[in-house]
Amino acid sequence: MFSLRTFRPHRAVALLACVLIPSFVFAQETPRREIWKAGDMSVTVIQDLPGEMPVSIFSGPTPGEERAKYFTDGKAEAGINAFLLRVGGKIVLFDAGTGTLFPSPGKLAETLASLGVKPEDVDFVLLTHMHMDHIGGLLKEEKRAFPKAKIMVSKPELESWIALAEKDPSNVNAGKVKAVVAAYGSDMLPPFAFGDTPLPGVTALDAVGHTPGHTVFQLTAGGKSLLIAGDVIHAMSLQFALPDECASYDMDPAQAVISRKRIFEMAAQKGIPIAGMHFPFANAVGTVKKDGKGWKFERME
Ligand SMILES: [Zn+2]
Repeated sequence: MFSLRTFRPHRAVALLACVLIPSFVFAQETPRREIWKAGDMSVTVIQDLPGEMPVSIFSGPTPGEERAKYFTDGKAEAGINAFLLRVGGKIVLFDAGTGTLFPSPGKLAETLASLGVKPEDVDFVLLTHMHMDHIGGLLKEEKRAFPKAKIMVSKPELESWIALAEKDPSNVNAGKVKAVVAAYGSDMLPPFAFGDTPLPGVTALDAVGHTPGHTVFQLTAGGKSLLIAGDVIHAMSLQFALPDECASYDMDPAQAVISRKRIFEMAAQKGIPIAGMHFPFANAVGTVKKDGKGWKFERME
């Protein structure tokens, strides 16, 4: 169950802290590459911003000393990704990165341009959830960044943020959700339910816990599938091996753990590759195998 009590406005501030840790790993100016192709679908990862997750934001049943072993100098390599799907002549984004919410502007727009995709070319944006590092890029100076795009998000996600905006007008993240809804108006399509296919070949899977309507998308084409797994993982080096560990951004940690394990189990059993919004760019997609009490991620080229 989810209650509004699990929302914590200070998390928005914590989120800022996480991306402020500078990373110099990625020198490439437009970090993007095609990660998956099947049937008429092609998926490209776009790194909106590089970054690292500090060990200090994680908690769980593992003793601190043991947890620290999964980090290098107290940090795990991460980043903020969005994904571009080309299918049937349509341009679809999964999440929209940070926009100008953080001190370093996100690179999504310029990277799309480098791929020949203009803002008005984007037909749909499907959201895994509505944290600021995933919706910031929907807005440009409080107006819509993608003039013709239709925005799709799960019902519990949208409703919970709207409810929070009413309950706590000072909540920065909820205020940003309201701004997105105002900017896109009737192009905010009716929210989908888990199990729905918001677009042909794209199924919305229940992955709640990180947020009240957190969604993993399963893309299927030509007999193959890919999971775009949103924020089931914040520190890849830690949470595949120790999936009971949670970042402070998980609004309902117990439920986030259940969802994380369910998604890993599905990926491992069915052999479906998994891609994530906070996976390091070099490891943006890979396969999952059971390994002891946890799982092991193996990068795909
Ligand atoms: Zn996130």
